Amino acid sequence: MLNRSTRGNNLARSAIETALLDLQGKRLNRPVSDLLGGALHQHIPVLWTLASGDTARDIDEALSLLAQKRHCDFKLKIGSRRVMDDVRHVAAIKEAVGEQASVRVDVNQAWDETTATKGMAELQSAGIDLVEQPTPMKDLGALVRLSRKFHIPILADESIADAKDMFALAAAGFAGAVAMKIAKAGGPTRALEQATVAQAAGIGLYGGTLLEGTIGTVAALHAWSTLETLHWGTEMFGPLLMKDDIVTKPLNFHNNGVDLPAGPGLGVEIDEDKLAEYRRKDQ
Ligand SMILES: [Mg+2]
Repeated sequence: MLNRSTRGNNLARSAIETALLDLQGKRLNRPVSDLLGGALHQHIPVLWTLASGDTARDIDEALSLLAQKRHCDFKLKIGSRRVMDDVRHVAAIKEAVGEQASVRVDVNQAWDETTATKGMAELQSAGIDLVEQPTPMKDLGALVRLSRKFHIPILADESIADAKDMFALAAAGFAGAVAMKIAKAGGPTRALEQATVAQAAGIGLYGGTLLEGTIGTVAALHAWSTLETLHWGTEMFGPLLMKDDIVTKPLNFHNNGVDLPAGPGLGVEIDEDKLAEYRRKDQ
């Protein structure tokens, strides 16, 4: 009914589908992952974003997280500084962590194709593993051409929301990977449709997030757990950024990833007092 009666509004649709899956799971006494095909993984890898912009501080943070085994893959948000300033920052971090960590960048559409050609060549020789959305979301041609010019793969993010976008980009000749997000796609089911198209096209999968709290994160984890191969892992660390939560038991982040919660539905329990505390009140 939701899909027939609404267009767009993918974030709201994702929230509603998540709630319906949770209800149905509880009714059947099955986890949401069972409703989506069945979990193939109970522990899902999670990377971390190093975001201070200060090279020494980011290196310290990376080394400390590696020692704790909390994360072994790192993503850096770049694109706001001059290309070579960004490249020096990223290359220094890669050199410091060496082979023990994968270092990727997210350019967030900041480069035009010419800048991206220069930037990707430099990132490729610095040993960076993945470049997320180097060019503007609507410049599909640039993304296709860049993906064929370099062996460092491109992770398409803003350019692809759902299965149809995925099909169009793959048909245009794109090679690389896709950042799936349940909120972008319009729910866990739609995100998994997109995964199927990507798999058919030989495009690598990555579990992305709009930095949701625990509930949105868990809904995505149930979806990602059903995928045999998550080539680039996930970035489902939203809950780690929060000072407080509305669930009674936080997710268990350990061993460079997070556990899929057990139990019926989403497998998380709402703390009603916390929910009341954080509910937006009319002034
Ligand atoms: Mg991104």
